[in-house]
Amino acid sequence: MNDNRHKVVILGSTGSIGRQTVEICTRYSDRVEVVGLATFSNEQLLAEQAAELGVSRTVLAKTDGPEALVELAASTEANLVLNALVGAAGVEASYATLKAGKTLALANKESLVVAGEVLMPLAKPNQLLPVDSEHSALFQCLLGEEPDELANLWITGSGGPFRGRKRSSLASVTKEEALAHPNWVMGAKISIDSSTLMNKGLEVIEAHHIFAIPYSKIKTVQHPGSCVHSLVEFVDGSFKAHLGVTDMRIPIQYALSYPKRWPAVFEPASLDLCELGSLHFSALDAETFGCLRLAREAGEAGGTLPCVLNAANEVAVEAFLNDHIGFLDIERIVETCLDTHERQDAESIEQLLAVDQETRIKAKELF
Ligand code: MG
Repeated sequence: MNDNRHKVVILGSTGSIGRQTVEICTRYSDRVEVVGLATFSNEQLLAEQAAELGVSRTVLAKTDGPEALVELAASTEANLVLNALVGAAGVEASYATLKAGKTLALANKESLVVAGEVLMPLAKPNQLLPVDSEHSALFQCLLGEEPDELANLWITGSGGPFRGRKRSSLASVTKEEALAHPNWVMGAKISIDSSTLMNKGLEVIEAHHIFAIPYSKIKTVQHPGSCVHSLVEFVDGSFKAHLGVTDMRIPIQYALSYPKRWPAVFEPASLDLCELGSLHFSALDAETFGCLRLAREAGEAGGTLPCVLNAANEVAVEAFLNDHIGFLDIERIVETCLDTHERQDAESIEQLLAVDQETRIKAKELF
């Protein structure tokens, strides 16, 4: 074995992104050594993964506590931490990773939504590598380009399972319908976020932080086929697009292989252009799906508001998944929490996590 292998910690290893990361690391064990695994509660799968990869350091956050996650992220032997935790639970681990000078491969977009203003000043160029498919696409389109020649970032979105629906028909949709995403296989939280278009809104905020781009230059566009993962528009009118099959193993692997590319671990990884035939684009319906508008407004206002947006959304999505509220209540709860919050400048992780906790309590009173 050569000693140049990446030493990787996978946070959230038993979830959808985590399992696919384990698959890539297993296939490329000559290039990647997994030195730590963490998950929230799936003890059995965690043990199986640890045995398969020969990993001795594991964290079960439910019993070991969130500080064990932070300790694992900052552990000295790892040089890359892939953060695939769900929700604001990933913020402290992202902070610890950047603070320790390690590369952060970020699938936990909530880290940047909640605390982008605090996290990004810590990140050196290319210390944060996006795993989110749209942001990986944008990152790749921007390679070798000058920031001042950029006109707009275009984030594509499929429109989710309720594309084309009107509000009157959304009140009674079920969680089963909301979970059935047409193109991507994903965890429950992000699937619901995709059905409300909150996911696209969170991605706008994520892009603002990763690429240090003003909101006025971040556009969203509906692209039901999900083949174009995002686009960059330059000042001379040129566009660069990133295309590919809809498989998260491509952006996950790129974060591990960067700046190189490795052969895909699955087949067929090649997009069949002739079978694809055509590409369709249209406007996303931010009037029907108010969460997209709320996210953009919260992002533009900045400070503690994106943290409030995220916390209210996490509580509301969980309540929807547990049949405590209806689909449109997600938007109502998020909007009420934003409207009743007194904005502060973002100063520290501690401050933001306190706002997160206050918002969760408030959101639960709105069911
Ligand atoms: Mg995405």
